[in-house]
Amino acid sequence: MNFVAKALNLSISAAERLEERNILRKAIIKHPFFPDVIEAFRLDKKFGFYEDGTVVVKATDGVRVFRGFPKIRRALVLNPTLKKHFGDREIALEEKMNGYNVRVVKIGENLYGITRRGLICPYTTEKARESIESDFFEDYPDYMLCCEAVGLASPYVPNEVYGIEGLDFFLFDIRNSRTNESLSVREKEEIAESYGFRMARVYLTTHPDDFNGIKEVIDELNSNRREGVVFKDIEMKVDPLKYTTSSANTSDLHYAFRYFGEYARDFMLARIVREAFQSFEFHESCEEFNERCLRLGKAILEPMISSIRECSEGKTIYDESVLVFSSHEVLELFKQHLRLLGVDFKVEILDENGEIRVKFKRVMRSTNDRIRGILNGSTWR
Ligand code: ATP
Ligand code: MG
Repeated sequence: MNFVAKALNLSISAAERLEERNILRKAIIKHPFFPDVIEAFRLDKKFGFYEDGTVVVKATDGVRVFRGFPKIRRALVLNPTLKKHFGDREIALEEKMNGYNVRVVKIGENLYGITRRGLICPYTTEKARESIESDFFEDYPDYMLCCEAVGLASPYVPNEVYGIEGLDFFLFDIRNSRTNESLSVREKEEIAESYGFRMARVYLTTHPDDFNGIKEVIDELNSNRREGVVFKDIEMKVDPLKYTTSSANTSDLHYAFRYFGEYARDFMLARIVREAFQSFEFHESCEEFNERCLRLGKAILEPMISSIRECSEGKTIYDESVLVFSSHEVLELFKQHLRLLGVDFKVEILDENGEIRVKFKRVMRSTNDRIRGILNGSTWR
């Protein structure tokens, strides 16, 4: 614990209190797959100016701090929010990709993948080691690559819209691990180019009052079923803002209502509110408005009814994805990792030809129990 206190500039007793209150938690499972890490802790809540997800690692070559990825605030209307937030600064419209947040870092001799809440994930680490060259870290030892991990073979957010069978990393920020300061959009692009990293695409660089140009990008993303944009000051001196497409709002709702027992009402309400403000701001035609209503209504009812039907046929409702592991060792470690996360899951081996393909099923216990109860005559609450 002493090394955490020292690294975060806390007294030892303050660090102990954080641990007692369960804010400071284990960030890793000790294993030979993580040979450079002696111990690692993460902050499960924001503390002082340290973001939630900040990790402190005691490594074979010293103590390291990796700051949590900062929250990005959301615009519900473009006008006047962008102007109010960015003033006259030049902004980049970067695609907001729909996967999960990973900080790729180098500790000792190897790469590690840290997920949003600050856990070093074995599956993500394996995929990062397979697809990212570590030469960047020789030149920029104090930096981390903030990426969205995207594709079908994702244990957290499987997504087919990108046409990626496996799991790919799309770089969106390069930050100083200790200060969380971000390189500018141009510096990031140059680095991505010279080290061969894939990047979240920049669709447009413009000014906050270019409503038509910005709306065009959003319409294009929406018709391609993409999630949305992150607006970034090209200097990265002002915090970014995010904005999502109607397609993303409805597909989130579709997902949440399929598993309505697991999802909080706030999650659903927030997405419905986004639809309302967008519809208002976009001055839709009657036809566009009716389409939105139908899309929204279907996103709510269709998935719930299909869950009810499946339960009524005696089936269990799972969230499924197909994952690929290089060895049984990493697969076992990943299962341990999920237990640490408290995930209720099942794993079935599909085939083993060099690599191991598994079907990973997340059991949605509460939705299953709820529907079954109701179908057997229980009353709502
Ligand atoms: P928040 O970041 O506000 O806590 P959240 O965890 O609910 O929100 P999202 O609504 O998905 O997450 O929005 C932020 C996330 O978007 C980032 O954490 C990052 O993983 C992801 N993201 C995808 N593409 C980009 C991009 N181009 N720039 C920044 N973040 C991106
Ligand atoms: Mg996301």
